[in-house]
Parts: sequence; C-alpha cells; structure tokens
Amino acid sequence: MPADVPARRPDAPLGYWLSEAFHTAYSGSAILSIDLRIVEGNAALARLLQFPVAELVGADLAQLVHGDDRQRSCTLIAELTPAAPSLRIEHRLVRRDGTTVWVEQTHTLLSGDGSSPPHLLSIFLDITERKRERASLTHQVFHDPLTGLPNRALLEDRISHAVARSARIGSLVHLLFLDIDRFKSINDGSGHAAGDELLTALSTRLRGALRAGDTLARYGGDEFVIVCEDGQPGDGVDLAARIEALLREPFVLGGREVLVSASIGIARARPGDDAHAMLRNADAAMYRAKQSGRARSVLFDDDLQAEAAARQGTEAALRSAIAGNELLLHYQPILDLGTGSVVALEALARWSREDGVLVHPGDFLAIAEDSGMILPIGEFLLDAAVAQVGIWRRAIPGAQDLGVAVNISARQFTAPNLVDVLGRAIRAADIPASAVHVEIAEDVIMDDVDRSQEICAALKALGVQLAIDDFGTGYTSLSRLRRLPIDAVKIDRGLIAGMTGAGQDRVIVHAIISLAKALSLDVVAEGVESDEQRDLLAALGCHRGQGFLWQRPQPTAAMEPWLISHLPLTP
Ligand code: C2E
Ligand code: MG
Ligand code: MG
Repeated sequence: MPADVPARRPDAPLGYWLSEAFHTAYSGSAILSIDLRIVEGNAALARLLQFPVAELVGADLAQLVHGDDRQRSCTLIAELTPAAPSLRIEHRLVRRDGTTVWVEQTHTLLSGDGSSPPHLLSIFLDITERKRERASLTHQVFHDPLTGLPNRALLEDRISHAVARSARIGSLVHLLFLDIDRFKSINDGSGHAAGDELLTALSTRLRGALRAGDTLARYGGDEFVIVCEDGQPGDGVDLAARIEALLREPFVLGGREVLVSASIGIARARPGDDAHAMLRNADAAMYRAKQSGRARSVLFDDDLQAEAAARQGTEAALRSAIAGNELLLHYQPILDLGTGSVVALEALARWSREDGVLVHPGDFLAIAEDSGMILPIGEFLLDAAVAQVGIWRRAIPGAQDLGVAVNISARQFTAPNLVDVLGRAIRAADIPASAVHVEIAEDVIMDDVDRSQEICAALKALGVQLAIDDFGTGYTSLSRLRRLPIDAVKIDRGLIAGMTGAGQDRVIVHAIISLAKALSLDVVAEGVESDEQRDLLAALGCHRGQGFLWQRPQPTAAMEPWLISHLPLTP
C-alpha cells in the first residue's frame, strides 16, 4: 500500500470507505473542478505522472495534457452536460520528467447539489503499450518488411490523395514505376540473400534521389513506385534521369560488384485519372521501356494512351471470341529430316474476327496472357487440337502414329490445373499421352528452373513429351538444361534464318545440335524455308524440321487432303 494512503479503520462510516477506495484505486483517479484544477488526486495518478500527491492538488490538468492534444481535449470536456455527463478521451499527458504517457481518460460530470458546485470525476488508464502495439501493427500492415518502405496498400492510398488534391488545386502529380532489369537472374545466380541485399541497397539509393514529400514505395517483388507532388512538368523525366545516373555506380552484393539497370515508366496525372489509372499508365510505359531494350525510361504519352485504348478494345473483343466460335486452329507439319515423313502437326492458334480478319497469335496472345483469358482460351484450343489429331489418327490410313504439338504459355504452364486439363483432353480424344508434344518457350521454362522441374516432372508422369520452344534466344546454361526432364528442343526460327547467306548463326545452330545430341534430346528446326537450310541442318545432324519449305500452317479442312497426299506417314 502506498505510504500516502491513510491506514484502514474497520469501524469507519461509508464516507471514509469511499475516500479510501478513491485513494487506493488501481487506476489513476482525480476529482477536478469545472475549470480542470485537481481537487483530489490518488496515489496511482501520482505514480502515473511522477508527482507527489501533494503537488498534484491544485495543478491545472489542461497544463498536464500534451500541447498537441490540449485544445481538442478541453473542447470536448467543456461539452459535458447533465444530459450527456460522461466522456472518454485518448490523449497524452506530460510527466514531471517531460516524457509523455498515453492515457484513456474517462470524465464523469458530478452535478453537485445546492451547497457543492459541479465537479468532474476522472479515471486515467495508461494505454501507452496498447498505442505502441497498434502503431507497430499499423506499420506492419502498411510497410514492406524487407525495405521498410510503404507497401502497395499505403501507396495506393497516397496516390489517391495526391490525385484528389491535384484535381482540387491543379497541382501536378508524377508517378514513376521502376522495375529492375533481369532481377531474376541476380536472384537465381547469386542467391536470394543477394537479391534481398540489392532491394535494400536500391531503396536506400532511391531515397537519396527524392525530395522531401515524395513517396517511395515497394510495389511488389522488384518493382518500386515513386509519387511526386507539386512539381513542374519535366520533373518526372528529370527524376528518372537522376535515378539512371545513381544506377551507374555498381552495387556490392555478397562481396561482389554487380551492375544493375532498371526500366522506368513515367505517368503524369491526367484529368479523370484515379490511382489505378495512374499506376496502369506508368506500368504500361515501364513495359514499353522493357520492350525497347531495358535500362531506360519512357513517358506515358498520347501514343501510348492510344495503344492502351486499342488494347482494351482487343481485350473486349477477345472476351466474346470463344463464345462466338471465332477461335480456331491451323496446323503445320513437323517432318523427320532423314525419312521425310510427318511426325506431328503443330497446332497454331488463329482468331477469325467478326469483321473477317484473321488475326495471328502475335497480335492477341499477349493480351490474352496479360488479362488471364489465355486460360480458358488455351484450354479450348488444347481440347480442339488433341481431339482433331485423334480423329485424323483414326480416320486416315497411315496416320495412326501422328503426334500433335501444342503450345503452352507462361500462365498456362504455371496454372495448377495444367496436368488435369491435358489429361482430360487426352482421355477424351482417346490417344496415347506420348502422342502429345507440349511446347514451352525457353524464357518461360528457364524463368524459375526449380518450379519448372516440378511442373515438367508432373507432365512427364502424365506421359506427354516435352519440348523447349524458341530455343537459343535465352540464356540457358547446360547445367539448367540437364535438370529438366525434356525430350526435345526446337531451334528458334531467327537462328535458322541467320544460318545461311551472310548470317553468323550457323555456329550457334551447330552448337545447339551438338548439345542436344550430348543430352540425348531430339532437335527440331523451326522456320525452314529453303532447300539450302534443310540440307545444312541435315548435314549438322538435326533430326526434324518445320517450315514454309514443306507447308505453311493450314486450316483443318486444307490439312486433311495434304495429310492424305503425304501418306504413308512412315515410308
Ligand atoms: P511457335 O510455337 O514457335 O510457332 C511457330 C511459328 O512460326 C508460327 O507462328 C508459324 O506460323 C511460324 N512459322 C512456321 N514456319 C515458318 C517459316 O518457315 N517461316 C516463317 N517466317 N514463319 C514460320 P504463329 O502461328 O504466328 O505463332 C506464333 C507463336 O504463337 C507460336 O510460336 C507460339 O509461341 C504461339 N502460339 C500459337 N498458337 C498457340 C496456342 O494455341 N497457345 C499458345 N499458348 N501459344 C500459341
Ligand atoms: Mg511452338
Ligand atoms: Mg517456336
């Protein structure tokens, strides 16, 4: 029991007990006059504020409230009336040593009687710890744990405020969307710790390029976003140039110097933009910077705006393409260079638009991929291709071993139901799984080799054959290639085109064929257009070829007579 509390007297009247309860209460308590002078204060309050009880009496509570909270608290207390006699306030009090303590203070108006004027009963609860926990929780919810920067949720809120303010007072808002170039290869090559080190070091460098008031946020993996308010029209471009200059200095990761570049998209708030529109525009500009060769910045302008609008139009039209039966397949034969026989048909997507235009995959697949529509579209095409080849295998004499090559996009490859989708298509078509050659582009399969290894193993367990498409354009190392359970590589069309004439790609094609042979993989050359290319490939030991030399991709109806005239498939 505190020393300044009177000793217990068992025979005392109620008034005495009330007084003792007040003085010994666990919570800080005070009786205040209406002008907030402390008339009585208990020991717990004295401990809370580090004052002796005697010094509390007569003190002005308003003066003990933190300067920033005082006005609000006094106003609220002044509003107490007999009809609304109590009130709870959270505010800071200043202790004798100048430190602050957060309290939840409950005031109750004691109306008094004729002889005694109204007073206030105040109970103080120390909530400093609760406030700290709440602040740290809020910090965690809105900040990235690695870099300590605002995360996506806080960023979107900041952009929304900036855009709303810009609409109100006509200020300028710039958004920079920055994506580290080839971050994946740093992560894969030097390890995740080095990747983390880079993200932290980069965030520190970026902070150095900003003005007070700018927001730097980590948007996702290797993406950062900067919001600049109240600037001049050229500020976004200037800031991007400053960042590019900062990146010329190498980073030291795991003791090694590494040069890093970034692609930056810049967007300026346009009338009617909200946070999402601004982010979308800056992202589109960043994407353009990547496409134009990385290590640069691009400003979202009218051209990009028009392109984005066209893209949205295509996306909308594509949405109704499946239902409207506008998606179909053309087929192109893959031949054995030794025997000249047809091994398989590659199924290639086409979009026969309402206006009669036949759109090639290069003009719609990226949009389907970005929007996620590739999943239903891919499944539809896969079913159609496998079913059609099943029909030909049964209907055309000599075609009983015909295979079908199907292309799988990045999203399809990592979709959790890929094996189910393929398995169902194969069972429905009633063909052996080994007749299906699944083609995955080199950049997709090499993006995350550990993950690809798992997916490929699951596909192999289904029984299909696996081929790496467009091989030779990426950065596949021998060791990574060996880890994947694949059956074939398809040499990229560009390399085949560069083999003859003044082209220098013959050495590369030769190296790929030797590599494939060493790993017991089949090699398919894509885009063979001339006898010269075919002869050269055969001489280098390439097994298979595909290209306009033999046949362009054909619709189903045209493919059938071609197949029949090229039978028997095996001489
Ligand atoms: P790919 O899988 O590498 O397909 C080969 C591409 O080369 C086809 O283009 C084909 O028409 C073209 N080609 C074949 N031989 C020659 C030749 O001798 N010379 C020239 N210049 N070109 C030749 P296409 O049909 O425009 O397809 C482009 C890409 O779109 C495909 O490349 C594939 O990655 C993707 N794709 C096509 N269909 C599908 C599909 O159903 N699903 C998915 N996910 N991707 C598809
Ligand atoms: Mg292909
Ligand atoms: Mg290809």
